[in-house]
Amino acid sequence: MHIKRTETHNAWDRDLAPIAVIAPGDEITVETTDAGDGQLTPGSTAADVPGLDFSRINPVTGPFEIEGARPGDALVIDILDMSVGSWGWTACIPGFGLLTEEFPDPHLRVSTIADDRAELLPGLSVPVVPMIGTIGVAPPEPGPHSIVPPRRWGGNLDIRHIGPGARLVLPVGVDGALLSLGDAHAAMGDGEVCGTGVETDATVRLRIGLQRDAAPKTPVVETDPRTHRTGAALATTGVGPDLMVAAAEATRALITEIVNRTGLAAADAYLLASVAADLKISEVVDVPNWVVSAHLELAYLT
Ligand code: CA
Ligand code: CA
Repeated sequence: MHIKRTETHNAWDRDLAPIAVIAPGDEITVETTDAGDGQLTPGSTAADVPGLDFSRINPVTGPFEIEGARPGDALVIDILDMSVGSWGWTACIPGFGLLTEEFPDPHLRVSTIADDRAELLPGLSVPVVPMIGTIGVAPPEPGPHSIVPPRRWGGNLDIRHIGPGARLVLPVGVDGALLSLGDAHAAMGDGEVCGTGVETDATVRLRIGLQRDAAPKTPVVETDPRTHRTGAALATTGVGPDLMVAAAEATRALITEIVNRTGLAAADAYLLASVAADLKISEVVDVPNWVVSAHLELAYLT
C-alpha cells in the first residue's frame, strides 16, 4: 500500500474517518509533506516566514485504521526505510522556539539535500539523519486536539531517533488506533532549539504490528545506531533549579561559542544548534541545581 502526501489532516481527532485500513504485520509506504505544508519553497526568504498560515502547520498523513486494534493494545511500529526530499528549510519563527526574546525576528535558511548531506549555509552542511517528527494515534478524548503538543499518544514528539531502523511502541487509545505521521526532518539536534529541524518532504516505509493488552503508559523507542553521534564535541552548560531556564542558558552559551569561533551570525548559529547540537540533561540530583548541557561536534567549530 502506498499513500500519497495529499491525504493529510491538521488535528488529532478520534472521529476522523480513516483513509486506509492496515492489517497487523503489514508494510505500508507513506508520503509525508513538510511541516509548512508546501507554503515555503526553495526560493523563500525570511520575509516569507511571518506570512505562514499556522492553521496549515504540521500536517500529518493519515489516519490509518489498524485492524483489530483496541484501547490498551500496543502499536509496534518498525521504521524500515525513509527517504527525504531534495531540499529542506530551517526557520526562526517569531514567538516560537527556546530563545524567543533573543531572536524576535524571522530567519530562514533553505538547505539543498544531496549525497546524504544537507547544506544549511554555503559551505556548512550537516549529515542527513532522517527522522519522523510527528507520529501518533488518536487520543480517546473526543474533539479536535492541536497537532502542536505531543501527548502520551505520541504526536509531535520530535525524538530524532525515530527514523530508519528504529522501533516505536505507542499505546492505543481508540478502536482502530488511527495512526498518522508527518513533520519529517533531514536533520535535528536533541531539543530542536529554534523550533525547526531541516524540514522536508519524506517517504517512509513502515511495518505496523499489534500486541494485545501491552500498551506502554507513554511512547517507547528502540533506537538505531545510525542516530548516535560519535565525534568529539564542545559542551556548554546551564546550571540552576529550573530545567527550561538551564536549557536556555546552555543554548545561549553554545551560540556565543559558535559565533566567537566561526564568525557566523547569531541567528545562523541558533539554526545550526537546532539541527546539529544535542541538549542533554546531565544531572537532576544535586539539589537544588540541575545541569543541562548543549553538545556540538567540534567539526562545526573550526
Ligand atoms: Ca515537530
Ligand atoms: Ca518540524
